[in-house]
Amino acid sequence: MLSVATLLCVSCLLLGARGQDRTAMWRGNDRSGRCQYTFTVNSPTEASCPTQAGGPEMDALKSRLSLLEVMVTRLAGGEASGAVGTAAGGPGAGVVQQQQQQQQQKLQEAYSQAMGEKAQLRREKDNLDRQVQDLQRRLEESRQEAERLRSRPCVQTPPAASAPQQDSGLRPAGDPSWHYGSPGYQELKAEVTEVPVPTPAYIEVGTGCGELVAIGEPVTHRKADTIAGKYGVWMQDPEAVAPYGAGMVWRIDTVGSEVRQLFGYEDTDQLARGYPTKVLLLPEAVESTGATMYRGSLYYQRRRSRTLLRYDLSSESIAARRDLPHAGFHGQFPYSWGGYTDIDLAVDEQGLWAIYSTNKAKGAIVIAKLDPHSLEVLKTWETNIRKVTAANAFMICGRLYTVASYTAAETTINYTFDTATSQGKALSVPLKNKYRYNSMIDYNPVQRKLFAWDNYHIVSYDVRLGRQQ
Ligand code: CA
Repeated sequence: MLSVATLLCVSCLLLGARGQDRTAMWRGNDRSGRCQYTFTVNSPTEASCPTQAGGPEMDALKSRLSLLEVMVTRLAGGEASGAVGTAAGGPGAGVVQQQQQQQQQKLQEAYSQAMGEKAQLRREKDNLDRQVQDLQRRLEESRQEAERLRSRPCVQTPPAASAPQQDSGLRPAGDPSWHYGSPGYQELKAEVTEVPVPTPAYIEVGTGCGELVAIGEPVTHRKADTIAGKYGVWMQDPEAVAPYGAGMVWRIDTVGSEVRQLFGYEDTDQLARGYPTKVLLLPEAVESTGATMYRGSLYYQRRRSRTLLRYDLSSESIAARRDLPHAGFHGQFPYSWGGYTDIDLAVDEQGLWAIYSTNKAKGAIVIAKLDPHSLEVLKTWETNIRKVTAANAFMICGRLYTVASYTAAETTINYTFDTATSQGKALSVPLKNKYRYNSMIDYNPVQRKLFAWDNYHIVSYDVRLGRQQ
């Protein structure tokens, strides 16, 4: 097809060359020698042959041919470069190289995007982790709050018109401490409605003993420096033994699972300054805030056990050990704030006591009088107040006193049990939890003070004893 078109155009060119004459004839031999006649006749309509038309057609054909050649070359080059790699030269190799660069660029863009998404996911993961931690913390706070509320499910209604008028003078309005437990403790509730008005203080001659009638304002001695001191126990030995004097102050920070350090300060001034003169490492770990100091020994509950230990300060060794029979421990019968406060040791004018509970007592507070030398139980009393409803407890003159709340800024001593008569009764002596997290309260019979540990703060309260009717 291509060759025919070309011949036609060549003939046309020849005809055009003879276009001068109207009619002409030639005769001559062709290439083979044969005679050949040729006539030319002018076109009746065309002034001239479309000579110029042959040029663009040829140019178009040449362009198309060149294009085809380029395409063939590219195809051949593409196959070749596919076989031999990018080292091939020529226009085909250049195109492939360009394509590869584009692919690399796309890959880099995809990689950058993936990296960006990975960083975003990591940020979201960190954010979720923080949310989980926050939820866990709030869950724990809710659990503790629920536990506290469960311990006082019943709220006493405001005093009825028939209630004795003197009640309102003793019981602060809206005091959350005036909640009561199960029907098994209705006896306590009945007694609460008959809280008497305190009479003027009356002190027993000789012992100076009496009932607790008032507690003074909290006096802050020291704030703990670290989280280890959020709660703890501090003590003074009411019957100190050499080499330590009567002013010696002892302190244990009880946050942590392996509490063994006992700090000694010469007096409360040194405690306030934070300069211990003695640091003892106890041979066995301490559980919670129930330790006490008496006659040259530290008495404490060994961690995760009902074992009581007597640590002799002069020999710096365990002098006695004994299990407190049937005592719950490590969260079985704690005070309302928890903290494994199952066994609380106390000292008063009459000696050494343990405050705890047992399965047999069904969670009610049990008081044991202990032999301070051997730790043997001399006698026990079972009260009718559940231990989990009490924030803390202490002994004064052979009487147990319980604290209603460890978080309320204005709370009360709401119950007492006299070991002399084995009788318990409700009462209402105001107490301030200045720092709203009172983890330890004990009585010192020589100082006539309550020692407490309230949310990093080491505090004390004066007490006034007398007689209530
Ligand atoms: Ca206590």
